[in-house]
Amino acid sequence: MTFYCKNLEINTDQCQKLHGDCIMGRPGCVLEGRVAVSDVLQEKIDKLAADQRKRVQKRQTAEG
Ligand code: SF4
Repeated sequence: MTFYCKNLEINTDQCQKLHGDCIMGRPGCVLEGRVAVSDVLQEKIDKLAADQRKRVQKRQTAEG
């Protein structure tokens, strides 16, 4: 199966919708909840969520 996403900037492998790495099935992705993701892809999605939580905590700490 071949899939092409109109949000993908091919030259940089970046998602123009989510302004970050194209990780199919990530939160906000057009494929979220529509496809089964591999273990490797799920690890990337989990890492992305963990990184986002860290950024939020860091911002909240900086704001006091
Ligand atoms: S993350 Fe999803 S919406 Fe964004 S470019 Fe990749 S497949 Fe498309």
